[in-house]
This record gives sequence, C-alpha cells and structure tokens, in this order.
Amino acid sequence: MTSEISLDDRHTVAGRFWHPLDDGRLQCDVCPRACRLREGQRGLCFVRGRVSDQVVLTSYGRSSGFCVDPVEKKPLNHFLPGTPVLSFGTAGCNLSCRFCQNWDISKSREIDRLTDAAGPDDIAEAAERLACRSVAMTYNDPVIFLEYAVDVADACRARGIRAIAVTAGYITGEPRRALFAHLDAANVDLKAFTDDFYHRISAAHLQPVLDTLLYLRHDTDVWFEITTLLIPGHNDSDGEIDAECAWIADNLGTDVPLHFTAFHPDFKMRDVPPTPPATLTRARRIALGHGLRFVYTGNVHDPEGGQTICPACGTVVVERDWYVIGRYEVTGDGRCTSCGAAIPGRYDGPAGQWGARRLQVSVGRH
Ligand code: SF4
Repeated sequence: MTSEISLDDRHTVAGRFWHPLDDGRLQCDVCPRACRLREGQRGLCFVRGRVSDQVVLTSYGRSSGFCVDPVEKKPLNHFLPGTPVLSFGTAGCNLSCRFCQNWDISKSREIDRLTDAAGPDDIAEAAERLACRSVAMTYNDPVIFLEYAVDVADACRARGIRAIAVTAGYITGEPRRALFAHLDAANVDLKAFTDDFYHRISAAHLQPVLDTLLYLRHDTDVWFEITTLLIPGHNDSDGEIDAECAWIADNLGTDVPLHFTAFHPDFKMRDVPPTPPATLTRARRIALGHGLRFVYTGNVHDPEGGQTICPACGTVVVERDWYVIGRYEVTGDGRCTSCGAAIPGRYDGPAGQWGARRLQVSVGRH
C-alpha cells in the first residue's frame, strides 16, 4: 500500500460513510475523528483517503497475517470457550495510543506489513478448513476497515462461522449500527475512565466508547466483554477503577465480563514499568465489590482471576490458566452442571480443546 491513492488498486473500494463540506473538503464519518480530506489526502487511520471526489477504503482484502489462536486470547471467556479462532488484521488505526502493543501494524505505512491478499470468501473457507468456530478481526481495529469487515463477517456466517471484533469502540452512530449488525461477539477496549486519559494518551475521547458499550448492551444481541489494560500511574487509581466499575454495573449490568490486563512497556511508553500482578488483583476486588460477577485478570498466571464462578450456587464452573481451560463444569447449552443456573455467554456443545496454541497460517494470495 503506497501513500498514493488510486481507484485502479484492487484493494481500494468506495467508502460508505462520508459527506461533502461547503469548503470543498470531504468528511469521513466512520469515526469521531471526522477527518476532512482534500483530494489525495489520507485520514489519520491512513487506510481511508480521498480520490476522485470520494472517500475510499484502501485496505480491502489486505491482511497483515493470519493466526489460529484460542478465543480466550481475544479475550473472550464466555464465547464458545476453548475453541480456535482464525485471527487477522490489516494496517492502520484510528487511535494513537502511546502504549500501543501492536504498533508495528497499527502505525504501518508500509506495503511489506500487508502480506496476505485475502477476500472474504478466502477467509471463510480457510476458517472452515482449519476447523475454527469463529473469525476474529483483531490486531488492529475493524472500525477502520468496516466495509471489508462486514463482508468477511457475512461470508463467515454463511458457513456457520461466527464473527468477532476486537475493537476500541471508537465509531460513530450509523457506522456503529452497520458494523455490529454483522457480528456475533466483540471485545471492547475501555482504555481508561477519564476523558483526560483518552485525550492525552490516545488522542481520542471517552464518550463515543461508552456510547458503543451502551449500544451493544441495549440495542444488539452481540455478546461482548470489556478489557481495561491497567497502566501504572495512568489509569490504575482506586478512584478511577471504582468509577469505571460503578458505571458498568449501573449502565451495562453485572453480567458483562470485565478483563483487567497487564501493561508491558512498548512503543512510546517504555519509561513506564509493567503492571504488578497486585494491581490487577486490587482492580478485580474493586469490581467484585460493585457486584460485577465475571471479573478476570489477564496476561498473568492468577488461578483465582481466571475462574468463572456460578452466580447462583458459587461452584467454580471454569478454571483457566492463562488461555488453557482446566476444570469445566458448564453444560453444552451454558448452564452450571451443579445447579442448572445459566452462565451468561454463548455456548454450543462441550468446551473446545485448542489450548494455548498459536498457529500461523497462510490465507489467500501472496
Ligand atoms: S475512519 Fe479514518 S479517515 Fe475516517 S474519520 Fe476515522 S481516522 Fe479519519
């Protein structure tokens, strides 16, 4: 992908959400950045730009690579547990997080990052061949490659394969509806609970992310879980965690799983130390205190923080060590084997046996 935009490039397709402004520029309406583009310009995400008086997506069918990994790694703990997922991403991102853990992809301006050219059917066919139960659009945010994401999701669903988005939820109203109508599950990054953090660290705002969470909870059947990466000194105070958990309990309910994960120094935040395990445990305790019923710690070995407990009878129904499921006491239709209470989530038969494996695979043309 060169920086010059051309409609002759087979990976460039018409964008669905934009409008002209009085000053001659075109405004992209996919995300709250509202990039205003002159001819030949690209938006902040780099994969959308203006050519021939329209806003286009330039990364349709281009991927930064495919892997089969466990659904727990998204992380999703209540969605077809233990099953393998075909995961992929493209290039670019609409946030500018200083702590980005995938910055080689998200900040990519280079064609050599985009190794596989794979259409929606190629991906769905590969998922079926590899016995994956779902496909995850991850590594970078499917919001910015919405048209491609929707077509991939449709192709997968036509073969009985579920579609998952791993997203920061930074998207506006109509594109939000257009994207999530095609998805079965999502993990939404709630990066912090102050607008100041979003502004300073991610060059974004908090409210659109909260709007996405409210939309998912109240207007869709999409199964979703939330992840907050705790960064020492930036978003890990008792007060901020308390406010986040209170908001989730009040606005989304206590059944939404919440994952607290550990930060590792990366990208532009190499001066910040890794998150101590005690911080994750403290955050989990605060969340449980607000009545949240499924609170997990991630990127650490923490047997207690990996358990799912039946909210009705208190039995440990799932034990996990990192991404590996141990004890599993959930029926094929998602009930506690001891008392029969429903465990919120999406279940379809016994737990998968994929374990922690990560298998790099090649899909499509190169
Ligand atoms: S999707 Fe990209 S081009 Fe569109 S508003 Fe967001 S950052 Fe700008």
